[in-house]
Amino acid sequence: MNNFKEYYKIFSKEDICIQILKEIREQHGIICKKCGNKNHYWKNDKKKYECKECNYRTSLKTGTVMENSNLPLQYWMSAIAYLSAKGGIISALKLQKELKHNRYEPILRLVKKIKCLPESDILKQKLLQYISGVNTLDLLNKENEND
Ligand SMILES: [Zn+2]
Repeated sequence: MNNFKEYYKIFSKEDICIQILKEIREQHGIICKKCGNKNHYWKNDKKKYECKECNYRTSLKTGTVMENSNLPLQYWMSAIAYLSAKGGIISALKLQKELKHNRYEPILRLVKKIKCLPESDILKQKLLQYISGVNTLDLLNKENEND
């Protein structure tokens, strides 16, 4: 896969993005910023974790490159996966067009932040893993079609 559109298709549904993010967050544990407690409820209506001790809410974006951004998860996750994959090169201007987003500056900031992510970034690694899984499934499906 070397086309951004294909990546965007994979992450075009918000619930898939939420599911992937939740897996990452829960693997590493959520710590309440306010009281340090580790036990949380998942509030599906708010799409946030709520501390069982003090009710402080933690967003899925907290502690990731997406923190403080109002752009949709779909933008971030497809762009992280695409730009981190082998041969994934796209200018902020082209990305803005592909996403049909009306403003250039937020997309430029997104691209700059993603380019600064270290190899060890957990979200980046997880998304690459996820993409390689999708590729394998696609190949298996194509093999079955030829039967
Ligand atoms: Zn708390």
